[in-house]
Amino acid sequence: MMTEGNKQLHTGNNTMDGSGTDGKNLHNERRDIIDGGQDHHIWSSPEGGHKIDIGKQIFCNRSLNMRNIVAVGFDMDYTLAQYKSETFESLAYEGTVRKLVYDLGYPPELLGWTFDWNYMVRGLVLDKRRGNILKMDRHKYVKVAYHGFREMSKEDKVATYGSTLIREAFDEPDYALIDTLFSLAEAYLFAQLVDFKDNNPGKVPDGADYSRMYKDVRAAVDLCHRDGTLKQMVAKDPRRYINEDPAIVPMLKMLRESGRATFLVTNSLWDYTNVVMNFLCRPRSEDDCSALSFDWLKYFDVVITGSAKPGFFHDEIRANLFEVDIESGMLLNTDNGTPMAQVGSTDIRLPPTKSNKDCRVFQGGNVGHLHKLLSIESSSQVLYVGDHIYGDILRSKKVLGWRTMLVVPELEKEVELLWEIRGIRKQLQLLRSERDHIEDKIHHLKWSLKFKGGDINKEELSSELEKLQTEREQVRLSHQQAQRECHQLVRF
Ligand code: IMP
Ligand code: MG
Repeated sequence: MMTEGNKQLHTGNNTMDGSGTDGKNLHNERRDIIDGGQDHHIWSSPEGGHKIDIGKQIFCNRSLNMRNIVAVGFDMDYTLAQYKSETFESLAYEGTVRKLVYDLGYPPELLGWTFDWNYMVRGLVLDKRRGNILKMDRHKYVKVAYHGFREMSKEDKVATYGSTLIREAFDEPDYALIDTLFSLAEAYLFAQLVDFKDNNPGKVPDGADYSRMYKDVRAAVDLCHRDGTLKQMVAKDPRRYINEDPAIVPMLKMLRESGRATFLVTNSLWDYTNVVMNFLCRPRSEDDCSALSFDWLKYFDVVITGSAKPGFFHDEIRANLFEVDIESGMLLNTDNGTPMAQVGSTDIRLPPTKSNKDCRVFQGGNVGHLHKLLSIESSSQVLYVGDHIYGDILRSKKVLGWRTMLVVPELEKEVELLWEIRGIRKQLQLLRSERDHIEDKIHHLKWSLKFKGGDINKEELSSELEKLQTEREQVRLSHQQAQRECHQLVRF
């Protein structure tokens, strides 16, 4: 594989149609997507005799005939641009801490705190009121619960989350989902503040409760994204914060050569989008990452910035669509994409079209505008690749019927781990079926002892029952032990 930035369409660790993976790896779909029906040397595949790392394969929960796809779209942040968590999330963390101290009245000792970017994972749920961090299974049962950084006992956990008459929704406003990689720093900081408050109750401003602390962290993170704290630093030195990925340009070229339209829909604004896309698409020979050009626009038909996803996917949301003057960054009024003359001027200002030939750059609007700009006849002809299950995938798929592909960088490690622990998982499976088998026998024997008449040897059956019960206990203990070992390997 040709990439270092390891989370792209072509590099695997992704699921198509966005709702997880059943573990199937559909090489045919991958070939379709990445080849666009053509052969190309960088796309290795088993059919081509290349072995692909399990962590780099594409997983799929339904097949998709790429022949029907006429446009392929991409989200930018954490989809095309894979940030380096150790630097980017640390930047977010440090910026947030500074805002808590200097703007929101938290004590200066927070400035000495450090961030372990490896600790939190997506999928966790924060219980804002109680200061807990939860890991749930797919059925929304709490499996592991921490208060701050302290693991809760099983009894505490059950008493808090397992003994309610009505099931918790684990949703806003009392709970927050860590569903983007952007949220890892805030989750970590929340856990730190919970511990801090427990140990120093008088030191948090106005005796803030856990929920208020969460709100403060959220507001501070939000500000870091909006006031340039993060973006200016990335713009200064993109290489420090974003993984390079030399396979992005060949992938985009290939899609375009196959006759498909390509587009970008990002919540980032134009100035930042231009910085990031320049970095990702610049020629390898160019060492200077700070020089900006509009060359990369040739790989897209339409770029929509400041899209305000997921609202963007609702056609009925009347968000105005502005054309971006790419040189100045100024917004030009449009009538659903058609340029409009300014009052007092008969001149319709068309945005400059230097090397970007056909690509037009917009801000805002909604999916209806995009369909029109790309002449899409049916939403099922669009494939969209994103990293945010709510922002990118859920509505585009449910409301519109777009085909979706979810980029899940964590899958790379997870499938590798699942592969490594396949032995213990197999053992668990065997122990479970052994336990079920013994249970069946016990059930059968008990039934015989209770309902069968004089033609049975009660003593013999009773002793057999006892033997089975002992066996069941042994299997139960082995299963428990194996499960514990398994959890040790995969828990956060
Ligand atoms: P996308 O993934 O390309 O659509 O862009 C995500 C954009 O959302 C980036 O510009 C992020 O900086 C921004 N973003 C992420 N989290 C927050 C937040 O909490 N508040 C404001 N902006 C955010
Ligand atoms: Mg994104």
